[in-house]
Amino acid sequence: MTAYAATVRYFNEAADLMGLSQNMRTLLLTPQREVKCQVAVQKDDGQIATYIGYRVQHDRARGPMKGGLRFDPAVDADEVLALATLMTWKTAVVNIPYGGAKGGIAVDVKTLSPSELERVTRGFVDAIHDVIGPDKDIPAPDMGTNAQVMAWIMSQYQKYHGFNPACVTGKPVELHGADGREEATGRGVATVSLALLKKENRPPEQTTAAVQGFGNVGTYTAEFLHEAGVKIRGVSDAYGAVWNDEGLDIPALLTHSRETGGVKGFVGGDALDGGALLTSDVDLLIPAAIGGVLTAENAGHVRAKYVVEAANNPTRPEADEIFHRNGVQVVPDILANAGGVTVSYFEWVQNRQHFKWDKSRVRNELDKIMNASFDAVWERATTKKVPLRTAAYLVGIGRVGRATVLAGI
Ligand code: NAD
Repeated sequence: MTAYAATVRYFNEAADLMGLSQNMRTLLLTPQREVKCQVAVQKDDGQIATYIGYRVQHDRARGPMKGGLRFDPAVDADEVLALATLMTWKTAVVNIPYGGAKGGIAVDVKTLSPSELERVTRGFVDAIHDVIGPDKDIPAPDMGTNAQVMAWIMSQYQKYHGFNPACVTGKPVELHGADGREEATGRGVATVSLALLKKENRPPEQTTAAVQGFGNVGTYTAEFLHEAGVKIRGVSDAYGAVWNDEGLDIPALLTHSRETGGVKGFVGGDALDGGALLTSDVDLLIPAAIGGVLTAENAGHVRAKYVVEAANNPTRPEADEIFHRNGVQVVPDILANAGGVTVSYFEWVQNRQHFKWDKSRVRNELDKIMNASFDAVWERATTKKVPLRTAAYLVGIGRVGRATVLAGI
């Protein structure tokens, strides 16, 4: 099943419960615009390299479209469409005034020098600048892109359209970025994890966890959960995994990972097979790396009682069914990792008002939105007697559907 087919399946499960007509389903699922473009650049050695870029603008019923930009060799039209669709429901679940979009370039950033990466980024903006903008579609970071890439996007966009920092979010704090944006997704993941534990009357100090992925989202998730007292027993990245029954020293692991480029070789734990981390002996499992890692093959062996989806699309629908049967609670991506887009919204608001918030305000506002969104989804799951994922889709689709009907076509 493709990534897009999986998101449509989740959509239809909720749409069936809502009694949504076929016409309305088609209207809500059909993307507004799909762009596929050539990005040709000169490499440092003088050779020409050609990459394919994508931007899918899925829905704009609730406001300008919003979504990250992924630079990864696995990027293709299906994945970008799936992620754009998720963004529509995600912005609605946290009730921020945006629609959904996503973009990407099929490129391995590890093969690019910094100046080549800059030329690829600027080339992509040359191709799509007319269809993005602060009131149309606002890109942000995702896998393989970072604040520096966002700064180049802003700079290139402004060459065509004049000063306009709100055209992209996730920018460096020194260049119209928001304090607290970098940590926001991980902080949001930790906030909903703790909210779930509270509902389950489980003290964080008596909870163990494993985190797959130690990049932007995984590191901050681990840090905030560790601070709250959760014992993080295992952490993995693309190059290895480490395990400590008594809980890893997360600040020391962060230092090790920054110094060596990965978690491998950390002296405060034992080496573990990355795949084994997903089925390890923990209460809380947090996939924070790539999509499709929880499958029909491994879901039945997952020992965690709770899965909080920090990554986008980490659970295949067949695995989701197994979790449901086995009583594993899954906090879905469209709620769990919405902290990033929420603080991107705060950055956009600050850019438009030319007014800077301090970090404590950003954190307070983020915590409020994540907790309120979790409560709304939890309440819907309880009253409708459905899993949290279906409840989140019910909330998201309901809001997008109402906005669509109210505005008319
Ligand atoms: P990142 O590139 O900063 O980090 C990815 C991490 O995953 C790295 O540590 C990498 O080594 C690891 N990884 C890759 N393949 C792996 C594998 N097979 N096993 C274990 N680890 C592996 O990316 P990120 O920004 O942290 O994003 C991670 C996920 O979170 C993605 O699915 C992304 O779409 C999602 N997400 C990110 C944000 C954001 O604000 N950055 C917001 C919402 C969702």
